[in-house]
Amino acid sequence: MTKPVYLDYAATTPVDADVARIMNACLTDDDAFGNSSSGQHAFGREAGKRIEWAREQVAKLIGATAEDVIWTSCATEADNLAIVGAAQFRAASGRHIITAASEHPAVLDACQHLDQQGFEVTILPADARGIIDPGRVAGTLTDATTLVSIMHVNNEIGVVQDIGAIGAICRAHGALFHVDAAQSACHLPIDVVSQSIDMLSLSAQKMYGPKGVGALYLNRERVRRLEPLMFGGSQEGGLRPGTVPTHQVVGMGEACRIVLTDMQAGSKRITALRDRLWAGIGDIPGVLLNGDSEQRVCHILNVSVTGVEGESLHFGLRDLAVSAGSACTTLDAAPSAVLRGLGRSDQLARASVRFSFGRPTTEAEIDFASETFRNVVAKLRGIAPTSAQANV
Ligand SMILES: *Cc1c(COP(=O)(O)O)cnc(C)c1O
Repeated sequence: MTKPVYLDYAATTPVDADVARIMNACLTDDDAFGNSSSGQHAFGREAGKRIEWAREQVAKLIGATAEDVIWTSCATEADNLAIVGAAQFRAASGRHIITAASEHPAVLDACQHLDQQGFEVTILPADARGIIDPGRVAGTLTDATTLVSIMHVNNEIGVVQDIGAIGAICRAHGALFHVDAAQSACHLPIDVVSQSIDMLSLSAQKMYGPKGVGALYLNRERVRRLEPLMFGGSQEGGLRPGTVPTHQVVGMGEACRIVLTDMQAGSKRITALRDRLWAGIGDIPGVLLNGDSEQRVCHILNVSVTGVEGESLHFGLRDLAVSAGSACTTLDAAPSAVLRGLGRSDQLARASVRFSFGRPTTEAEIDFASETFRNVVAKLRGIAPTSAQANV
């Protein structure tokens, strides 16, 4: 059996060859294995030097200074540390938090944890296009609001939120603003200064880096301190104790460096691939685009299909490695809450497909995907394929 065509880059990306090389050097060079906390000898200092180089690459990607970036194990941990850590540290000045229904579970479940600790959490709905109205955020802020968490790009439907506008509103009010940028950092410019972002979460494995490493940006002037989630060391200013894994963070640094050089050309190419797929399937009756058609990222295309069953649709599409909803929710039997939030019925939320594209994606793969999709939908509806393309 041949491998399915991989169109699930929003779930994870393969590791870039240069990233693998630089990581391997950290693991095999005989002067790099030291513990970066051991600054008293050359082994520790060499590891530390590589780690600080990597920190600078992450900072450059988001317009930050290196001292404001701390390493975590993934974006989930960064989200938890930002939200739980900031809310708990600032609890004396207020216990109200604002987030949105379309957020990743890493954000929603962290907020739910705070809710159980006696915090008040307002969960804003997205509109039918998947967009959070910044005015809605403004209208929800109270004197007790200490934290607002809104993602940049939604991982299921690819809708882009106006984080600059929301950031300005939070800044004027005095609430901290956290952004989950796991899905956007590879494709959209981020500038934490002009976008008034106080905390920002990143994941290496969504940008051709390794799994097992992420980063949290902290505006140290505004976020003086977080309540740490773990205890036992002074690494990362005591906010994230534990020996820093040199090869992992250097891999993330290299991934960020490459993203910065490739973003413009890469996004243009991936936009063309996404549009090619939509041109190939968007004219099938009853195939609906999920999320705003303009305010969206290039690498995600999410569609629902009328009149077919979700399970049969995905079984039919088994030659394509795609997602139903997101990788984080496919194990649930429940239909995607994000799609239900757009007003999609249970049936449409279940009969949905998230295609996502990446650097290795080719036009031939896109054409195979549209042909496969057309054939499967036609077959499930009990009709012969209609387009000439479907018979190729
Ligand atoms: C993938 C993803 C996460 C989780 O990232 P991990 O590094 O796997 O923890 C969080 N938020 C969004 C929007 C994501 O797409």
